[in-house]
Amino acid sequence: MSELQNLYKLQQIELELESLQKSIKELPVFAEFKKLQAETADAKEAWAWARTKLDEQAKRIKRLELDLLQTEAEQRQAQAQLFSDSGQTSKELEQLGRRSHALDCERREKEDMLLMAMEGQENLTQTVQQAEEHYRALRAKLRQLQKAGNAEIQSIKNRVNDLELQREQLQKQISEALLGEYRRQRPRYKGNPLAHLENDCCSGCRVIVFTGLKSRLKQPDSKVYCENCGRRLVP
Ligand SMILES: [Zn+2]
Repeated sequence: MSELQNLYKLQQIELELESLQKSIKELPVFAEFKKLQAETADAKEAWAWARTKLDEQAKRIKRLELDLLQTEAEQRQAQAQLFSDSGQTSKELEQLGRRSHALDCERREKEDMLLMAMEGQENLTQTVQQAEEHYRALRAKLRQLQKAGNAEIQSIKNRVNDLELQREQLQKQISEALLGEYRRQRPRYKGNPLAHLENDCCSGCRVIVFTGLKSRLKQPDSKVYCENCGRRLVP
């Protein structure tokens, strides 16, 4: 293979390397991972929130229970007084009767409140369970995606390493002068200052090449440039 052909090969390798490095940064798995990561964080927060609510509800139930016990005790006391037969006046008895009745109503109200609070606790327990399941499912999905993403990135990196080795080998086989010219021309031609002939067209600009140039290209050590774009043509 001629030096120029090696240089062309080098150019193609560098183009692929650049495109791989760009694709690594723009992998869809990154955006997907970020989105799932945010969803997982939200689910974790929702789970913690539900747990806090459940704790608060348990404390509330405890308070209601104590309160109910207190009312029950007061009512028992009022009843005992009412039936103690300790010579109360009829007015006193009437007052005691009213108090006992009021305490009874209060007790029923508190019982209802306690029942409702316990129902709320059951619902919250379910909410906590569902929130935990949701969070764990998302976390598993996130780990799976991370694994797949790592494998994808690794396979690209392997290809990059392989290409870098090939580039190193090729560079040793090309003169400094030719490499220097190629490096200087790269920015002007978006990375490919060398072109092939493809169906009599310059592979760089796709414009047809004159027959004269084609035959000159066949001569060894000739320097032929595309008349349209100025790229050096490689046989
Ligand atoms: Zn051209």
